[in-house]
Amino acid sequence: MFADLHLHTHFSDGTYSPEELAGHARRHELSVVALTDHDTVDGCPRMATACLAEGIELIPAIEITSELDGHELHILGYGVESTHTGLLAELARFQRIRQDRIRDIVLRLQKLNLPITSDAVFELANCNSPGRPHVARALIQAGVCKNLDEAFERFLKRHRPGWVPKARIHAEDAIRLIHEAGGAAVIAHPALNRCGHLIPDLARYGIDGIECFHSKHSPADSEHFEEMANRLGLLVTGGSDCHGMNKGQPLIGGVKLPLGLVEKLRDRMSRHRLAARSCEELKPAVC
Ligand code: AMP
Ligand code: ZN
Ligand code: FE
Ligand code: FE
Repeated sequence: MFADLHLHTHFSDGTYSPEELAGHARRHELSVVALTDHDTVDGCPRMATACLAEGIELIPAIEITSELDGHELHILGYGVESTHTGLLAELARFQRIRQDRIRDIVLRLQKLNLPITSDAVFELANCNSPGRPHVARALIQAGVCKNLDEAFERFLKRHRPGWVPKARIHAEDAIRLIHEAGGAAVIAHPALNRCGHLIPDLARYGIDGIECFHSKHSPADSEHFEEMANRLGLLVTGGSDCHGMNKGQPLIGGVKLPLGLVEKLRDRMSRHRLAARSCEELKPAVC
């Protein structure tokens, strides 16, 4: 049995429901999964119920978009308490930023006379944490584009007319937020974001691990980051980053993490959970 520690549902920009995702996980013989929706933990309670029904263990988690030195980097937070008030307040702020960005993107597209409205995007997204893939789907629905790739290539990626930069929190703040909410922080797909050179800085900020195994990592990438994790004393994790049917074949099942690595992550999660709890109890005297 194996784990997949990077999965999305329609609570952010995936296409699967929690129930569908848990079903696929069981069929791929995964015994542990983590739900890592972007900037939201809204899907975690339903995913917990769905995983229980399939006999799978769930690690509630999150993927936070952050920045360091002008680079976008994604930080995974494993085992965060999904009712933590500080975390929920920050996530609500990130979600407002995402929604405002959608309105800005749509305004730009409307200036090109494209038949698209932000209401149509929000209705289609039907979640608090919408992103560009939802705009892409709205463009397909309106008959402007044939597929997601065309929508990104013509309108949505950097240097295209619909591009709007996204406000992001500093990586150090993202790591602190995850720790305060009792989770362990892991840098997601460093090869994909070309941010490997920033990992020593992230280690100084307290990052717990590196996502070495990922659908977009080559075997050489994985080996390189495993070596780096060992050298810096960081945990090794991995996941498929499956978004459902977004890009043809679903990615779930493509990355199978040995359970021994999950155990090490769990130990670290327990330590952060304990530290966060005692910190909450001692407030405001010490923390
Ligand atoms: P956002 O967070 O709104 O900037 O959107 C980022 C999301 O868009 C990520 O989940 C990417 O996987 C997805 N994305 C980026 N480029 C493409 C593409 N060419 N086709 C489909 N999805 C894409
Ligand atoms: Zn995504
Ligand atoms: Fe990511
Ligand atoms: Fe992801």
